[in-house]
Amino acid sequence: MHEMGIAMQIIEIAVASIPADLKNAQVKRVNLKVGKLTAVVPESLHFCFQIAVQDTPLCDAELNIEEISLKVRCTDCNVEWTAHEPVFVCRKCNGGSVKMLSGRELDITSIEVVDEDA
Ligand SMILES: [Zn+2]
Repeated sequence: MHEMGIAMQIIEIAVASIPADLKNAQVKRVNLKVGKLTAVVPESLHFCFQIAVQDTPLCDAELNIEEISLKVRCTDCNVEWTAHEPVFVCRKCNGGSVKMLSGRELDITSIEVVDEDA
């Protein structure tokens, strides 16, 4: 299950992003963008995340996953559309100059940290 590796990486990045002067910082929420082409199953990632956050500053954190659809564009005729699987041929002109615009993201967009002492 590669979602576990991804969950661990998210936690590592989130922990590293906590300002050093916050002694009792807790991560409340991690916002994540996941492209449809990454083969990440959001349910699995949620599940792995819940297990992996135990005993970390993220133990109460919520993982918010935004799924990014696969968008492609033909650079010959400039038509753009949303696909459900990788596309290599333009659906309008049948050309082979199809570029992927989105769908491969696996990015943390923001991390919300609170200081429990504040
Ligand atoms: Zn085209």
